[in-house]
Amino acid sequence: MLQALPTFDDVLAAAARLKGIAHKTPVLQSTTLNEQLHAQVFIKCENFQRMGAFKFRGGFNALAKLNAAQRQAGVVAYSSGNHAQAVALSARILNIPATLFMPHDASPAKLAATQGYGAKVIGYDRYSEDASAKAMQLAQEKGLTFIPPFDHADVLAGQGTAALELFDEVGDLDALFVCLGGGGLLSGSALAARARSPLCKIYGVEPEAGNDTQQSFRKGERVKIPTPVTIADGAQTPMVGAITFEIIKALVDDIHTVTDAQLIEAMRFYAERMKMVVEPTGCLSLAAAIQAASSLKGQRVGVIISGGNVDLARFAQLLTSSL
Ligand SMILES: *Cc1c(COP(=O)(O)O)cnc(C)c1O
Repeated sequence: MLQALPTFDDVLAAAARLKGIAHKTPVLQSTTLNEQLHAQVFIKCENFQRMGAFKFRGGFNALAKLNAAQRQAGVVAYSSGNHAQAVALSARILNIPATLFMPHDASPAKLAATQGYGAKVIGYDRYSEDASAKAMQLAQEKGLTFIPPFDHADVLAGQGTAALELFDEVGDLDALFVCLGGGGLLSGSALAARARSPLCKIYGVEPEAGNDTQQSFRKGERVKIPTPVTIADGAQTPMVGAITFEIIKALVDDIHTVTDAQLIEAMRFYAERMKMVVEPTGCLSLAAAIQAASSLKGQRVGVIISGGNVDLARFAQLLTSSL
């Protein structure tokens, strides 16, 4: 049931919808990092986005496109965290009732934030239950609109607005590193990158334990893996999306992977050098840029931080661990 593939025009339309509602997040540089990589690195900080992650962009864009009857009936989604918060906050802004399926072991901060936005939360087991099926079933029973976390034209077009802002602020880049779970952020970013900086290399970055998109990319068709065990909880997707993969196949140059230890190293860098709290999944892009340093010398490099939602106790534990 493939929808028409979204285009760069959909990213532009999403940017118009989000204007004045999403934050235009800062692009930061670190002299230490630039010297270390012998490159100029532009860091797009979606950890400073509303609800703490880029997902607000896609969630709001999708909800803002619903008609009056759909808005009145309400929406349903599933998520380990940030998409839940994005849908819950967008629903509150647009006055739409929202129901969220969230794993029992979701981060307490993400759970509390989602409930705080007024959404109804239903728990599920992320290793044994199919949350997508549960959400779609509820949608059918109650006449709700299902808002998928990544595999949806309006969601991924919204996610692409972060990269659009980055290019509009800094101009052409030689390489762009994007955190990757189901591919919403990467596919949307790729639409923006190809339009704004056609020669820019576009790289998706997954946790090594969850390299389903890398496998899919190499094989040319989607590969499903068991739910990966990694500290990057926003990238525990077993399979890349159908729509997102079509765009990734067409526009992305390669998929990189990094270990949990590399994520902690990047997390420590952000905390110590840039005074930023970045969640493990948000560290994928920088970890890969550091890993690829030898091929980036003299280049202008974009790094998208996807989010900053992590319990402080967990954050402290990870920073002081020696994985
Ligand atoms: C959802 C999420 C991702 C992965 O995004 P996809 O669009 O599923 O690829 C990465 N980082 C954070 C912080 C997220 O919330």
